[in-house]
Amino acid sequence: MNETINQMKNFVNNRAVILLVEDNEGDARLTKEALKDGKVFNQIYHVRDGVEAMAYLHQNGEYNARNAPKPDIILLDLNMPRMDGREVLSAIKKDEELARIPVIVLTTSQDEVDIIESYDMHANCYISKPVDFDRFISVVCMINNFWFTVVSLPDN
Ligand SMILES: [Mg+2]
Repeated sequence: MNETINQMKNFVNNRAVILLVEDNEGDARLTKEALKDGKVFNQIYHVRDGVEAMAYLHQNGEYNARNAPKPDIILLDLNMPRMDGREVLSAIKKDEELARIPVIVLTTSQDEVDIIESYDMHANCYISKPVDFDRFISVVCMINNFWFTVVSLPDN
């Protein structure tokens, strides 16, 4: 318990910020609910496609420092309209300002090509969304706990 509190201290004053990039409303709702159940208090920002994600990350248009804080991690869906997750991943990892942010690909795809291409584009990990409801919730909780109580993240 003490260890957990210790590892969470970075986020006591400044809650962990998660950017969820997901076009499926049902999956987004489930993910947000599961993230709220974790040990870490986090702020979840949800955008619905790659165009919105890049606008958020560059604080363009409707996004600014107040409503679009720099995320500690990004949960990225692959298949989305307008600009898909592959293009977003590629843009993030080519951008000096953004490249360091861990990107967790969270997708329904189990395609070997998607897995290989995601790692080639420097995804920090690739997770296939479980179809089973309970398993999905449990995987999201594991992501939350792992990235915020086990991993050391860079200061923003
Ligand atoms: Mg999708």
